[in-house]
Amino acid sequence: MSVKQVAILGSTGSIGVNTLDVIRAHPDRFSVVALTAGKQIERLADQCAEFKPRIAVVSDADGAAKLNKLLLEKQIKTQVLYGADALTTAVTESNCDMVMAAIVGAAGLVPSLAAAKAGKRVLLANKEALVMSGNLFMQAMRQGGGELLPIDSEHNAIFQCLPNQFSKNPNPSLGVEELWLTASGGPFRDTSLDQLASITPAQACAHPNWVMGRKISVDSATMMNKGLEVIEAFWLFGLPLEKIKVLIHPQSVVHSMVRYRDGSVLAQLGQPDMRTPIAYGLAWPERIDAGVPSLDLAQLAALSFTEPDLARFPCLSLAFAAAHAGGTAPAVLNAANEVVVAAFLDEGLPYLQIPVVVEKTLNAIPVASADSLEVILEIDALARKIAKEFICKR
Ligand code: NAD
Ligand code: MG
Repeated sequence: MSVKQVAILGSTGSIGVNTLDVIRAHPDRFSVVALTAGKQIERLADQCAEFKPRIAVVSDADGAAKLNKLLLEKQIKTQVLYGADALTTAVTESNCDMVMAAIVGAAGLVPSLAAAKAGKRVLLANKEALVMSGNLFMQAMRQGGGELLPIDSEHNAIFQCLPNQFSKNPNPSLGVEELWLTASGGPFRDTSLDQLASITPAQACAHPNWVMGRKISVDSATMMNKGLEVIEAFWLFGLPLEKIKVLIHPQSVVHSMVRYRDGSVLAQLGQPDMRTPIAYGLAWPERIDAGVPSLDLAQLAALSFTEPDLARFPCLSLAFAAAHAGGTAPAVLNAANEVVVAAFLDEGLPYLQIPVVVEKTLNAIPVASADSLEVILEIDALARKIAKEFICKR
């Protein structure tokens, strides 16, 4: 068995750390050749000391100097690079076989696209990249000829429940009727609408079932996360939006389902632990130990499913609207959402303003066709600027 060389974009985050946890347990299968991080230099230095990648990338020169100093102390010979372009270098120059795309937000788009074009196996956690540039990204995957393995738990579940290679050949005779994305409903599933007005970042980040980065935790609370995931599923699996449904499932045990024409519904179940989809993506088509305890179905009192309440979760409706509008609308939705979530987390923007500012930004920018990276990056910057103006004007 040949050892696969792995590059991790966003190695210090929640997905990055879980990926290294799986890799650590399988030194006979995987070796780490590149690690990248934004600001957590000490954590990155520890990861370099343990996994000895050829390349490590940080955001800026100060971070690079700090990392070099730490690596010198630890006598580690990793080459340190910095800046946005160096993220692409980590993908293209590290001689990796696969890339875990786990940077949060639009910052992950360009290096993830580079991995797609270079024909790598792409383990895609960075859903924002696909939301912004679905068409381009899928085209880049086809041109590069690599494999795309969804890491988002819902999409990983659907991938497992679909016929083999369905997205490459979505033949109607295979009888796939609908994709059902499950959602826990987040921490405010039952919170009264009055109480939502005074939600704090700490409350929004306290997800009942999953431990994740702060941005995706807020997205899960507003259900923008599920909206982004609907768009992600649309691009990954090539089914019309009408065939992609969302179900609230508070227990987070059924990670998603596929309904077939003959009445069958296939589901993937498991613990809410990202190491399962990560291990699946790393080893596919084989299966390896992910370090995740087995699911004890006899211990589960019940599994329940209900339709989402769109009045409680306006972000979900906004995402469906942007998905239907197509073109650059999902990129605008994503950029505005990144700005408002950061403002909620850092500057005390009230929680209920999140959908308000996203909607205003969507309405302010006409939909154009998203057929080049330049257009997408331009619209991303414009949407950020407009969303910030709406926040200031409040
Ligand atoms: P996180 O905030 O914990 O980690 C983000 C990583 O990206 C960190 O390593 C950080 O240093 C890096 N990063 C952030 N901004 C950067 C920038 N401008 N330049 C370079 N690096 C930067 O986030 P996470 O929870 O690990 O999520 C990562 C991605 O995976 C997101 O797109 C998220 O939607 C997706 N995802 C996460 C989970 C989960 O359970 N955490 C589940 C499904 C999907
Ligand atoms: Mg998910």
